[in-house]
Amino acid sequence: MSDDCIFCSIVAGEIPSRTVYEDDDVLAFLDANPLAPGHTLVIPKAHHEHVQDMPNDLAADVFAVMQRLVDPVESAAGADGSTVAFNNGEVAGQEVPHTHGHIVPRFDDDGSRPIHSIFG
Ligand code: C5P
Repeated sequence: MSDDCIFCSIVAGEIPSRTVYEDDDVLAFLDANPLAPGHTLVIPKAHHEHVQDMPNDLAADVFAVMQRLVDPVESAAGADGSTVAFNNGEVAGQEVPHTHGHIVPRFDDDGSRPIHSIFG
């Protein structure tokens, strides 16, 4: 746990979130400011700032959870597909310095915008 990390506080239960999935090492929760209904974040419970900071087995666990959640998240949102992505580093738009994967449901009528336009 890292002091002053909002996602560590969510993992610790100090800040409420809507849990989508949880195991010993990985937590998935609904984004508080969703880009689309069902926008889900998947994080390692341990604090690692960037994707490349995670041990390989943890990175594999995080990705496996993302992969497993794509269908149920899309289905719950009634989506036609999803953007599955990490913003990695401030220059790439990473605002929270605790690595997190996004699953953003996408819809046929949302303009099929590429990833850079939905992440601003
Ligand atoms: O990739 P990036 O760092 O920009 O994404 C951070 C995400 O964390 C945003 O989508 C934001 O809405 C979300 N967030 C959240 N709960 C918080 C703070 C940020 O879901 N308390």
